[in-house]
Amino acid sequence: MSQPEPRLAPCIPLPLEDKALTEIIEKAKDWALMHGVGMRDKNHFTKDAIQFAPFVLLPSPFPRQEFNKAIELQTVLNELMHKVAHDEAFLQRTLQNALEVDEFTANLYNIWVKVKEEGIAQSVTLGLFRSDYLMHGPDNNKLKQVEFNTIASSFGAITSHLPTLNRYIIRQLGHGDIVKNMPENRALSGLCTGITDAYDLFGVPNAVVVFVVEEVSYNICDQRFHEFEIAEKRPDITIFRKTLNEIYEESSLNDKKQLIIEERPVAVVYYRSGYEPAQYPTQREWDARLRVERSTAIKCPSIGYHLAGTKKVQQALATPGVLEGFMGAGGVTGRVRDIFTGLYSLDFDDSGERAVEMALADATRFVLKPQREGGGHNVYGADVRDALLRMRHGRERMAYILMERILPPLVKGYVVRPGASVPPPLVDLVSELGIFGVIIGTKDKIYSNKQVGHMLRTKLADANEGGVAAGLGALDSPLLV
Ligand code: ADP
Ligand code: MG
Ligand code: MG
Repeated sequence: MSQPEPRLAPCIPLPLEDKALTEIIEKAKDWALMHGVGMRDKNHFTKDAIQFAPFVLLPSPFPRQEFNKAIELQTVLNELMHKVAHDEAFLQRTLQNALEVDEFTANLYNIWVKVKEEGIAQSVTLGLFRSDYLMHGPDNNKLKQVEFNTIASSFGAITSHLPTLNRYIIRQLGHGDIVKNMPENRALSGLCTGITDAYDLFGVPNAVVVFVVEEVSYNICDQRFHEFEIAEKRPDITIFRKTLNEIYEESSLNDKKQLIIEERPVAVVYYRSGYEPAQYPTQREWDARLRVERSTAIKCPSIGYHLAGTKKVQQALATPGVLEGFMGAGGVTGRVRDIFTGLYSLDFDDSGERAVEMALADATRFVLKPQREGGGHNVYGADVRDALLRMRHGRERMAYILMERILPPLVKGYVVRPGASVPPPLVDLVSELGIFGVIIGTKDKIYSNKQVGHMLRTKLADANEGGVAAGLGALDSPLLV
């Protein structure tokens, strides 16, 4: 594929000389290890050790204007997604076809239907969201939304330390004058305040917060920092870490529909697991999710928020007129529409057929996305054509959306990975920005709506995806240019 290759200049002149590079990497690795910029090793798992998480040595340039736009739009997007999650007819209409062919989304949807029929026990919902962006380089580096995460939005904690790491590196290299262009990042405290505000709103003495975690947490630093932050600022709040299976075994609902664990009512349930099929190996995990959803606990996310975060909803919001329906026709609506890239349904109707034809004509312009989270599920490049030819006449195509491929600008840099040889090669990188948002409210009233911080993830320019937990990307922080 002939790609235009827009570029941004690195923040300092490169390459670095081998000796200086090796020295600074040794310092940076130790800084990262000693400040919890870490993860557990997937290949040699032990609970007794962490490795540093892959990171980019130098902060990546990011256009200031587009960064500020993303920051300013976050509360608008929080409110939009809050409205979407509470619009029953819209969710039903939007997800209907995908449910037929996507069992996982159907299971979530059925829980949503069931609790609505029984009567919602807790009208307050907590959203810890992250809106993700790539810049579209060929279009003058304009901000384009990749997706909106409503469940287990991660790396807010670790990336809160990243500017300090990057500042240290830059100063050690003698370029301290540019650190003024690195924005502060208070994502960790902002996200935790969301949890403690929801806890206070619940207002039941002796209540606890439950973090729903995987059987094995590789991304342990990011999760634990939330616990430590809350423990420091609010020593009165007890936090339990439980898997869905433990919730199944150890929890119950009392006659007031309170979720009880270890004889204490649960105020807030914060999901760091439960976003992908493998996290529900048996019916027990689904039963646990349903029990939590039936309870008075404030859920982060509620099942409605979870459904609102699907790719299908993202695609439906880009359909002409839909955004206006939620937000009116003002200038802000235009600004939101401006961050959308082409998004198309693959349903069996005229527009779905047109989308299939368009993608078959030039497949490399598109990405195929199923209703999944956590990275590694999308289809790119020539595979888009093969997948569409295979699915063209099958109902399974309705489980996917078609999205225009965003082509971010490249920047030269160094990635530091555990176990990799030092000095690393100078490579072409691209960065994905995430902005964190917190919202607390009911269908009719919003108690709190904030933008709380950011994260930057950077990957090799020729890699399709850059999930850090998935082992593909590296942590980074922006240097505004
Ligand atoms: P997930 O919920 O699994 O994280 P995403 O929509 O974020 O799904 O896709 C995963 C990754 O794929 C993104 O982080 C990004 O690197 C890449 N990606 C997704 N959509 C696009 C797109 N339209 N253009 C270019 N890359 C994309
Ligand atoms: Mg996601
Ligand atoms: Mg993503």
